[in-house]
Amino acid sequence: MTDHHELHALVEAPATEDARPQRAVVTGGAGFLGSHLCEHLLGRGIDVVCVDNFLTGSRANIAHLLDHDGFTVMQADVSHGITVPGPVGYVLHFASPASPVDYLKLPIETLSVGSRGTFHALDLAVHKGARFLLASTSEVYGDPSVHPQPESYWGNVNPVGPRGVYDEAKRFSEALTTAYRATYGLDAAIARIFNTYGPRMRPDDGRAIPNFISQALRGESLTVFGDGLQTRSICYVDDEVDGLVALLTSGHPGPMNIGNPDEISMLDLARKIIDLTGSESEITFDPRPVDDPQIRQPDIALASRELGWKPQHSMTEGLQRTVDYFRALDESSA
Ligand code: NAD
Ligand code: UDP
Repeated sequence: MTDHHELHALVEAPATEDARPQRAVVTGGAGFLGSHLCEHLLGRGIDVVCVDNFLTGSRANIAHLLDHDGFTVMQADVSHGITVPGPVGYVLHFASPASPVDYLKLPIETLSVGSRGTFHALDLAVHKGARFLLASTSEVYGDPSVHPQPESYWGNVNPVGPRGVYDEAKRFSEALTTAYRATYGLDAAIARIFNTYGPRMRPDDGRAIPNFISQALRGESLTVFGDGLQTRSICYVDDEVDGLVALLTSGHPGPMNIGNPDEISMLDLARKIIDLTGSESEITFDPRPVDDPQIRQPDIALASRELGWKPQHSMTEGLQRTVDYFRALDESSA
């Protein structure tokens, strides 16, 4: 980490949008969301340096980008530092285990990338005079007592519960980003991402949608936790990435909810996936994880007003595309 007394001297005047180098660093760029972001940025003519240690992501997610002249991959743990030569206009900090199954297995790594990793990503943005985008999460709201959740809600998080390693890492990273903005004048934004799904999720990442689709395609029972009446609001990845890039290229600091308000109970989601796959699978009810939030829905009035953004894909369309992806994966590995 940089000696923070020296940082004031290093801060460059933030580039105007026109003068900004069209080159982005994406930490966690080989993950599910990160790989879609890399692809989207390259499509807009922005070169991308993907920094990833492949902890929960994979080279397969970015294999189709390797031939692109503007794409570079650096294998590195951002908790240990980030060195990127040359000009950088944007730093997008997406590195972190994100599925509950992953972060419960990797508690220290999750806290480390959210704390040390965020320091390093912010320092890089300060040194380069880049705009910074933090991938925060709806989990900062914990098990919410306000519904839907506006950005002004402070949340209900258990710091010493099992999910605390993720939720508190993200809450710390939001506080740190805010402090860099205030202290160093960093042009930084915070996105609060709600449950996003789509192609390139790992079938075994443990989240509800990949679990249900994989189980339905294999004809196994779908494992609904608890009574399945808990809800999530699910956003198709292309919509999420459009919203994130709109925030990145705006001057807005956030925090800003980026998600789809389309809310569904986990039991209805399981039934819908059985329908869409045409599966004969049944539903079984397994124990509910500790501190599992009961409800979740983004209030997206701010994103809609400030960015003119709203999701475009219906739940049925998004889930069908995701089912098609998982089916093709199964066929290619058969
Ligand atoms: P993912 O696990 O697919 O991607 C995370 C990527 O970060 C992986 O490629 C992993 O290898 C990399 N990584 C982890 N620790 C690292 C480290 N120390 N150094 C370098 N790379 C590291 O998860 P995702 O769903 O794509 O989530 C990406 C980001 O978005 C995360 O920060 C997550 O918290 C946030 N987010 C995602 C969702 C969602 O629904 N997918 C919701 C809210 C927030
Ligand atoms: N869930 C479920 N069956 C599964 C996996 C998850 O019923 O096989 C439930 C989980 O308990 C939670 C919801 O689905 O209530 C969403 O879980 P996920 O891990 O996808 O996302 P998060 O909890 O991080 O929002």
